[in-house]
Amino acid sequence: MRFAATHIGIVLSYPGTGHIAFGGGGDKPCGGDAGVVDMVFPIFRRLLRDRETASEAGAPFRPQHIVATVALALLLAACGRGDDRPPPRPVGAKPVTLNLPTSRDTQACFADLSREQVRYSPLPDRDYGGGCQVTGSVQLIDIGVPVTNLKGMRCGLARTFVAWTRHAVAPAARQILGSDLVRVESFGTYACRNVIGSATAGNRLSGHAIANAVDISGFVLADGRRITVLDGWRSGDADVREFLQAIHASACKRFGTVLSPDYNAAHANHLHLEDDHARFCR
Ligand SMILES: [Zn+2]
Repeated sequence: MRFAATHIGIVLSYPGTGHIAFGGGGDKPCGGDAGVVDMVFPIFRRLLRDRETASEAGAPFRPQHIVATVALALLLAACGRGDDRPPPRPVGAKPVTLNLPTSRDTQACFADLSREQVRYSPLPDRDYGGGCQVTGSVQLIDIGVPVTNLKGMRCGLARTFVAWTRHAVAPAARQILGSDLVRVESFGTYACRNVIGSATAGNRLSGHAIANAVDISGFVLADGRRITVLDGWRSGDADVREFLQAIHASACKRFGTVLSPDYNAAHANHLHLEDDHARFCR
């Protein structure tokens, strides 16, 4: 309980500082062996068990259960946000270049890209106002297959995207469609906007606003075929459907959030791939 209460202090300071560096820090605030969530969950589970035991015995519900629940909810809500970013500036503020030190996770990510023989250039950290920030990001230059419309993307997203393209999309094209992948088409990465296409999420910043999401719209094969999400998702060609289902399933194992035409009409023509650890696959 003391532990949970300690973290309420941290969580409540979140909107003011916008900066939580618990657990491993860097791009994966909730990951790592010593992540706070890993530590809080057992406590929370114990409290819940206590509560069930107490209610079975007719004992009154104790307020600390509510406090613990709220603390955990706030903590989980804070986890979606990358943590190497400064507090958001007002909407409409002039874009500024930030002088942030490169976080250790970002440095490790750059090293991973280099090891995978990806050509990229690190981008300066920029704050566009209204919570739209591009930090720890890269411009991918050559990942082995051309990708259209890629702008800055957070390094962790770039790393996962490269792995998905190389180890899921290219092999699936060869195995299911019998032709090599020669181009990936995207609708882009960074866009300073809210989530679209959902009645409940319209006031929430999109993963694109922090360059942490990419929208993939199609694939061109060596035999000249162009497979688009729009035409292919419910195509009469079973192989095309199987290809798109296979790369969607692989994306769900690699990215935090994957949205397809099955999710809503706003995603009829692309796959939304986001590196947010949300484990949301539609
Ligand atoms: Zn998207």
